[in-house]
Amino acid sequence: MDGSLIPVDVTGHDSFMPRFHRRKVILVTGGAGFVGSHLCERLIAEGHSVVCLDNLLTGRKENVAGLLDHPQFRFLEQDILNRIDWQGPLDEIYNLACAASPPLYQRDPIHTFRTCTEGVLNLLALARATGARILQASTSEVYGDPEISPQHEGYRGCVNTVGPRACYDEGKRAAETLFWEFGAHQGLEVRIARIFNTYGPRMSPEDGRVVSNFIVQALTRSDITLYGDGMQTRSFCYVDDLVAGLMALMASEVSEPVNLGNPGEFTMRELAEMVLTQTGSSSRLVHRPLPVDDPRQRRPDIAQAARLLGWAPTVPLAEGIARTIRHFAGEPQVVRAREAL
Ligand code: NAD
Ligand code: UDP
Repeated sequence: MDGSLIPVDVTGHDSFMPRFHRRKVILVTGGAGFVGSHLCERLIAEGHSVVCLDNLLTGRKENVAGLLDHPQFRFLEQDILNRIDWQGPLDEIYNLACAASPPLYQRDPIHTFRTCTEGVLNLLALARATGARILQASTSEVYGDPEISPQHEGYRGCVNTVGPRACYDEGKRAAETLFWEFGAHQGLEVRIARIFNTYGPRMSPEDGRVVSNFIVQALTRSDITLYGDGMQTRSFCYVDDLVAGLMALMASEVSEPVNLGNPGEFTMRELAEMVLTQTGSSSRLVHRPLPVDDPRQRRPDIAQAARLLGWAPTVPLAEGIARTIRHFAGEPQVVRAREAL
């Protein structure tokens, strides 16, 4: 594969039928990542043709292994910074391409920022050329270290433009601006999802985010690394709920940003204790320095999503964590580490 998009010839596409009556051709960038792989799976299950484009920076081909032989699924290894050469019809684009874990997006901050700006411009150009509706995976990080709680869409945020998180936070803010401009002034159908911390099966064990870290540490009886005093809060959404929200937003007529997340708010200490209880692990809690600019609190106001999309999350944290623990217990590197105990 030379990296450029090629027409999908397996779509049964009939351009004369309205959008909601026919199988769609859908591009999912970042589709081999944690959230993207679940989204690809759902879209295929609903009968659509899916082109998954990913540079495998933080994603894994194993995440879409179950789809690779599906006739309606195509995998393309490509960076969204490179020109996307599409020759066929395209109905929808979900842009999920971007490392999401702080240690990973900070590894090459310029690439992260370019992914959110130049990469997004490439995708917006593709949407304009094909007439596809396009959704951006934005983030609660656009609110930075928020001074209000919960955070509603009208809140403009408190973001450091020059700290270690800026490449991601400011990149995602710039991406929202680009989406808004192309929607307001270039006639594109844009959707903007402000996603709050999401977790579930297929997070990489090496991802470095808190849920995967704590579960892998507990399962392998390593120390649980609590950054700072552990009293900072996050609100965790199970991945299936998020995917349902993304699809509802894409199907809606809502072009303003919409928060998608689970409003249940927990301290990192509470999360650690829940993981320890559920795994029955003897791991110790140890404190590590709080990363620079780590937000102290985060909780979504999801009134807009409820009103405009009829969406609300359904999976409580304890249940989602149990499912995620079961997944991680089967990850080869966790299995090996447990055998060596
Ligand atoms: P992830 O790191 O598992 O997935 C991101 C995917 O994008 C990976 O497969 C990676 O290889 C790919 N990618 C990165 N840069 C790329 C590039 N330049 N070109 C092509 N592919 C590229 O992270 P995730 O948790 O699945 O997040 C998916 C999206 O949702 C991201 O855009 C992220 O910013 C957003 N988001 C996620 C969360 C969350 O808690 N999971 C919260 C807010 C926003
Ligand atoms: N965190 C932690 N231990 C870890 C990883 C993260 O205490 O091993 C904390 C981190 O400092 C932050 C919260 O957990 O306060 C969520 O971190 P994550 O990287 O998952 O996402 P963020 O919301 O910060 O982007």
